[in-house]
Amino acid sequence: MTLPSEIDVAIIGAGAAGLGAARALENSGLSVIVLEARDRVGGRGYTVMAAPDITFDVGCGWLHSADKNSFVKIAQQLNFEIDKTRPPWREQSFDAGFPLKERADFIAALDDFYERAEQAAKSGRDSAASSYLEPGNRWNPMIDAISTYVNGSELRSVSIQDMDAYEDTGINWRVRRGYGALMTAYGAPCPLALDCKVTLLDHSGKRVRIETSQGRLSAGKVIVTVPTNLIASEAIRFSPALPAKVDAARGLPLGLADKVMLALDEPEALPKDGNLRGATMRTAMGSFHLRPFGQACVEGYFGGSYAQTLEDAGSGALAAQSIDEIVALLGNDYRRKLKPLAESRWAHDPFARGSYSHALPGHAGDRAVLAAPVDGRLFFAGEATSPNFFSTAHGARDSGERAAGEVVASLTTG
Ligand SMILES: Cc1cc2nc3c(=O)[nH]c(=O)nc-3n(C[C@H](O)[C@H](O)[C@H](O)COP(=O)(O)OP(=O)(O)OC[C@H]3O[C@@H](n4cnc5c(N)ncnc54)[C@H](O)[C@@H]3O)c2cc1C
Repeated sequence: MTLPSEIDVAIIGAGAAGLGAARALENSGLSVIVLEARDRVGGRGYTVMAAPDITFDVGCGWLHSADKNSFVKIAQQLNFEIDKTRPPWREQSFDAGFPLKERADFIAALDDFYERAEQAAKSGRDSAASSYLEPGNRWNPMIDAISTYVNGSELRSVSIQDMDAYEDTGINWRVRRGYGALMTAYGAPCPLALDCKVTLLDHSGKRVRIETSQGRLSAGKVIVTVPTNLIASEAIRFSPALPAKVDAARGLPLGLADKVMLALDEPEALPKDGNLRGATMRTAMGSFHLRPFGQACVEGYFGGSYAQTLEDAGSGALAAQSIDEIVALLGNDYRRKLKPLAESRWAHDPFARGSYSHALPGHAGDRAVLAAPVDGRLFFAGEATSPNFFSTAHGARDSGERAAGEVVASLTTG
């Protein structure tokens, strides 16, 4: 689509939040355009066919809190099959390197840690989640590894108030054709300008002047949905400057999680939807989902500073490390049986610069600061603005709908 010179509402970013906002405005009578820097929609929701018969969600894959997840209904409406197989995260197939008794000890230590953090959060004071690790507990490195998957970051950088605010109903489903594919279908009716990178939002006048890689336009209202790391680094600038927004974004950095997809020869030897942890007594380890949906593949997951180190080591490092960790558990045969197909590099992605947000200790309140509208003209959405479903795709989508509602309300209240 060519850029209009004027529009009622410009939405910056065509991820779950931007698409949620655009869909919510479709019968509003307002002219709307979604400006997206990439050549595709979905943002951190992105499905590829890693091989002709292997679906790979490079970003989000799980319908977390599925009983409260607005994408579940959307999937049903769009005829996307939902897989309700329970996630294997707490299992270790074949007990490889991690016998049942040890696993039970670890799960007990993990649950105790969450309980201590939850109790501490009740005081209303904030602190780093790492303060609630039991000193000397042998499972601490592994509890920290879980944090790198869940928060994209080690516990020392995670606020307990934020952790406590997250709403996890414990029900996690998947979209068989891919969460990213679902987002693409959901976004299909949206008016879009792709390859359109926004660099400046000048809100000094009555209308907002928007500078993009495809030229300028002006909008009555703007909904900003870009990831916090882009606001924090001022990759997208506001004029006049909005220091409160930049500070809030800096309090809510995107941590890092990366995924790798490996093709698997002789798949019958491994269980469908099985799981392996690459190690036990350390934080730097991958977690491996064996044969997701029964496909002939293994999907690896890496988080936090370990994922960053592997990304920085260059393309192929995540796959090589995955194969080493699996071979150490299942035997040398697997060096021959596993072949790299695809991997993510979210920290190096210029339009994400990370995976999902967590609040730094003392910054749980920044989500509300980031979400607040400015002058009835600038509105903010995106996963980081969600009060209780932050870091998720449905939290992002719902935040877009919330921001669209604020836009409409601002018009009726003048
Ligand atoms: C590896 C990984 C695993 C995950 N797993 C899950 C999971 O299982 N379940 C779950 O619910 N969530 C998961 N998530 C998180 C989920 O993907 C995100 O929370 C959600 O997709 C964020 O949506 P958003 O709209 O807020 O941001 P984004 O999807 O990042 O959308 C923002 C959009 O803005 C665009 N943009 C950026 N800068 C500009 C600019 N200057 N001009 C124009 N456009 C711009 C971007 O290209 C992007 O399309 C995962 C994420 C990753 C990376």
